Amino acid sequence: MRYDVVVVGLGAMGSAILAHCARRGASVLGLEQFARGHDLGSSQGKSRMIRKAYFEDPAYVPLLLRAYDLWRELEHRTGRELLQITGLLMVGHEAAEIITGAQRAAREHDLPLESLTTREIRTRYPMLRVQDDEIGAFEPDGGVLDPERCVQAHLDEASHAGAQMRFGSALENWEVTGDGVVVRLADGDRIESRALVLSLGPWFQETLGRLGVAIRVQRNVQAWFEPATDVYNAGRFPAFLLDRAGLPAPLYGFPDFGDGVKVAFHAHGDLTDAAHLVREIDLARDIAPVVSALDKWMPGASATFRTARPCPYTLTPDSHFVVDRHPAHPGLILCGGFSGHGFKFAPVIGEICADLALGSRSRHNIDFLALRRFAARADPN
Ligand SMILES: Cc1cc2nc3c(=O)[nH]c(=O)nc-3n(C[C@H](O)[C@H](O)[C@H](O)COP(=O)(O)OP(=O)(O)OC[C@H]3O[C@@H](n4cnc5c(N)ncnc54)[C@H](O)[C@@H]3O)c2cc1C
Repeated sequence: MRYDVVVVGLGAMGSAILAHCARRGASVLGLEQFARGHDLGSSQGKSRMIRKAYFEDPAYVPLLLRAYDLWRELEHRTGRELLQITGLLMVGHEAAEIITGAQRAAREHDLPLESLTTREIRTRYPMLRVQDDEIGAFEPDGGVLDPERCVQAHLDEASHAGAQMRFGSALENWEVTGDGVVVRLADGDRIESRALVLSLGPWFQETLGRLGVAIRVQRNVQAWFEPATDVYNAGRFPAFLLDRAGLPAPLYGFPDFGDGVKVAFHAHGDLTDAAHLVREIDLARDIAPVVSALDKWMPGASATFRTARPCPYTLTPDSHFVVDRHPAHPGLILCGGFSGHGFKFAPVIGEICADLALGSRSRHNIDFLALRRFAARADPN
């Protein structure tokens, strides 16, 4: 059999791409090297932040608006709760990128975003320790996705729409033929397809490296704590981002939904690769700095350490994604380098990659995610 599309890697992105291709009636196969629901990639840890006033670049905002709609539609079709609106509090000094960038995106796209003075943050959130030079921005539409449930929802939807899937099935290599691609698996199988989508997460280093994108894989640790107080409970406390002088990186976290508050530094950790990520937690190196930062921001939040898990970021040189066709092989679509902020986009990335795999161009503007920005260093062969 010859498929319309083979999708390799069934994490956040691959599961969404598979679902979107299958829902359009295409014959699709999803390949994943590990078991269904594995926790070795980048798409697990119970919570992922979603927000619209995107400080990283306002160009993402139209994709985010579409992603919110698609998450809600997926919830509706699968009957699963995936997205909870908690609001998002961003705090930093007045020139902090998380504040100025969010304000810029809100201005350009007419998004709701409240500016808060130091005093207003203290009045609204008396439990917090806010410094005198810190101001805030509150995004009422900010929220939290459940990544494990989201991936399963997309996989369920894909299989419901007729997609085939193979777990424990690793891609070994691919070869472009006249009007398609031949995919070879580690077990020796050979599969033919019209189009191939690679969504390999942190396993993308080699492929993207050949195209001039020097990917760095970074070990980021997410930690859970049981607070000594209920003031950080969901419903009373929002998701947050804190950019404070003296911290090793911006601190972000989520309210307590019943399994503790979850906190992490954004883009802070040792560089590694997907095969050598250290999974053990070192309390002194991994947890003590988080506790110290939390004590000065959310007193009582870190009363009891519960657990922690490392998770790889796949960083491009400019921290923006790569979603594009291979420059030499139009039937090959590359979807990676999500740089620690991609999860929230998964369904719209699914829509975009289905557009590319099954048609000529995407309905969304993805020029800013194109490979050509790295072209000077590329060797497509
Ligand atoms: C700690 C942490 C916190 C984050 N927080 C946020 C957040 O709050 N908000 C947000 O939007 N984003 C966040 N992100 C980023 C987001 O989670 C990732 O961008 C996203 O999950 C990446 O999905 P992916 O599908 O590209 O990668 P993955 O989920 O890693 O999936 C890639 C898959 O490809 C498979 N694969 C690789 N090679 C092969 C092969 N040869 N054959 C078969 N299968 C293969 C892998 O096994 C894996 O399952 C965070 C990331 C981390 C690590």
